[in-house]
Amino acid sequence: MGRRGIKEYRASEALQLILADRDQVDIPCPSCGHKTIERTPKRRLPKNRWTVPRQVTLKCKKCSRQAMYVPGKVTQPSDIELVGG
Ligand SMILES: [Zn+2]
Repeated sequence: MGRRGIKEYRASEALQLILADRDQVDIPCPSCGHKTIERTPKRRLPKNRWTVPRQVTLKCKKCSRQAMYVPGKVTQPSDIELVGG
């Protein structure tokens, strides 16, 4: 179920992207195989690695599917406040 025209990945595809991003690995789009995934915000320099963005959006440039996640929730689920709504 997409909302308002936003194409979303299936859960398993989103998970692949999210885990790869968390590990700072670039993978092609799990849906269409396109190599360019647009990341918002852009990945920071290593010296700023402790600055964790509130939310990361990963969007394929070709099929426009997107996945969003909150980095803190992936690495330390109990440590970061939950994002409501
Ligand atoms: Zn794609």
